[in-house]
Amino acid sequence: MNAPDHFQTAGRLGQPLHGEVVIDTHGHLGHSPDFPIVRPTAAALVASMDRMGIQLTCISSIPAIFGDAEHGNALVADAVQAYPDRFFGYLVMDVGYPDKVAAQLARGLAGDFRGLKVWSYGARTGLPYNHSNYEPVFAFAQQHALPVLAHVFGPELDELEGYIKKYPRIRWLLAHIGSAELEKYKRFAREYPTVWVELCLSSCPRGLIEHLVAAGLEDKVLWGSDAVFLDQASQLGRVLFAQIPVSAKRKILGLNARRALGLEPGK
Ligand SMILES: [Zn+2]
Repeated sequence: MNAPDHFQTAGRLGQPLHGEVVIDTHGHLGHSPDFPIVRPTAAALVASMDRMGIQLTCISSIPAIFGDAEHGNALVADAVQAYPDRFFGYLVMDVGYPDKVAAQLARGLAGDFRGLKVWSYGARTGLPYNHSNYEPVFAFAQQHALPVLAHVFGPELDELEGYIKKYPRIRWLLAHIGSAELEKYKRFAREYPTVWVELCLSSCPRGLIEHLVAAGLEDKVLWGSDAVFLDQASQLGRVLFAQIPVSAKRKILGLNARRALGLEPGK
């Protein structure tokens, strides 16, 4: 093993990273109907970010992805207003109620939201991404060149591929690489300039990040935590302690996210 770099040292000491761009591309706020979460609030998440040196967390609302978009999105809007430099808001749409979607999208973009979050049926009963109700959502994202964070756990990749080809102005963040269909995630990241793959996953497959870097994908991998479902610290440690060059850690922890989210300085 090589001598520890300063990412590893900060992790071992439990100290925040300094002088690095660290962006969590996949976070949430709010309570879950599935299991209790202690203090799933904006203030608690900012405290977590400060403990680790995370500048920005991109959040969607847990109540919104579980079917209450109106109230759920309001949680995220409040957080963005309270901490405009610390949160990037993903809007969630009520895709099951297509009459509501156009107004939700217009209101969200005019307000506090800079991207969209979609959460399809892999995790629950619901509409697959290739259902016609998603068409206006992705058409809107194309029109406004928005980033879209898509929950993916395998089969959703096929549902999304047509949209990836059809809507080249959307920047796609495909979540949970390592869950299933690893080769397909890698193919998407290689083949489509608008696709990035995102890391958060509770099972933390050993060697995954090393594998992706060795496969030449260090410009296409994004760090995300799935906070407040998961702790940011455990997911951050996967990158801090990965056996990859420091330059690749920098890309994965923040530099790639700047591009995927349209946050490059001067833009
Ligand atoms: Zn998530």
